[in-house]
Amino acid sequence: MPARGHLPRPAEISFTNDVFSFWKLPEAWRAGTERIIEESERSAQHYLFEEYLDDRRRRPSPLLNYYYTFKDLIPTGVRHWLNSIAIRNRRRPAFPDWPCEDALLRIWRRGLAAILERWNAQDAWHLAFWPEGKSCCVVLTHDVEGPEGLRAMEPMADLEERYGFRSAWNLALEQYPIDWKRIDQLRARGFEFGAHGLKHDGRLFRSERDFQTLAPRIRAIAREHGLCGFRAPSTLRRAQWIPQLECDFDSSFSDTDIFEPQPGGTCSIFPFFLDRKVVELPYTLPQDHTLINLLGRDLMPTWIRKARWIASLGGMILTLTHPDYCGSGIYLEAYAKLLEYLAGIDNAWYALPSQAAQWWRLRACAKLQIADGHPFAGGHPGAIVPRLLSQEPLARWECKAWRGF
Ligand SMILES: [Zn+2]
Repeated sequence: MPARGHLPRPAEISFTNDVFSFWKLPEAWRAGTERIIEESERSAQHYLFEEYLDDRRRRPSPLLNYYYTFKDLIPTGVRHWLNSIAIRNRRRPAFPDWPCEDALLRIWRRGLAAILERWNAQDAWHLAFWPEGKSCCVVLTHDVEGPEGLRAMEPMADLEERYGFRSAWNLALEQYPIDWKRIDQLRARGFEFGAHGLKHDGRLFRSERDFQTLAPRIRAIAREHGLCGFRAPSTLRRAQWIPQLECDFDSSFSDTDIFEPQPGGTCSIFPFFLDRKVVELPYTLPQDHTLINLLGRDLMPTWIRKARWIASLGGMILTLTHPDYCGSGIYLEAYAKLLEYLAGIDNAWYALPSQAAQWWRLRACAKLQIADGHPFAGGHPGAIVPRLLSQEPLARWECKAWRGF
């Protein structure tokens, strides 16, 4: 497992989510574009931190407390049926769109156009989004909900290995007994593990008091077992509190997920900084549970079309599947087809979440310099390579249409 704090964090580096940091443009262009940078950070924040939702919708709803009081008394099948009725009757929000939302991508493009105009340039170098100029990023993650999910880990891991993948598994640390020897065996095969809270009881982000009671236990278990990543149970979340869990990276947010108990989305198909230290890796493919149990849809059409859209823009395809739902039978077969598709994406970077988070920090630390017309990544050469914006699909806006899902 990668160690915490392995990267230098020079004082002058601040991890921000503005247009300049997103594209990583020539450092010499920074002076004179401060106003564009500031404005873009404010605009990006509106989406990344779900500020388009009013404050009470950026936290778990009080109604959920009643649900969690009775949740364990309702058989799983009945619960899914009730949830699916609730979801189908819920009015679809005007924003964000689902399964694809491009509002933030438009902010990145508009900011880039403003900077190019400021420097009177048609094209320019930037630091490529992914190592060695890879075209997009693919990350596989799972949340393990119960004993059934635990049992299905190895068959799913075997399947992923057959396609050359390794993935990350988030464990609910006090929901079921965890055999850490088994976890170590999977780690030895290249898989990684994160924390999925303590229990699926809706308590962690319910109140400040609950959070301050539970967070030390999560931190202690995560430290003891080397868990660097975190995903909130049921993705119930509060952006300001997550960094207190002292995780290296979080994955509790989606780009768009309007069907979760706390609907919303960051509109981001790229990593970003949740604060000055924690990298957010939003999940960007619809969850298996959503498609199977809530919407009653086939997995493949939505998965493939969304994955194709993200790949066409050079973003990060981050899957969230559950061995509890997807670990056997026809759903495992559908997952195999997804893996087959992902393995065939041209020039993709296949990464564990820890690697994607580490990369995003490394790239943030690098500075693009141009000497005698030659671009290079100052301070951090190697995997970080300069690329012309004209080679970047997002800059050219070659996104496939997604309407008609
Ligand atoms: Zn879960």
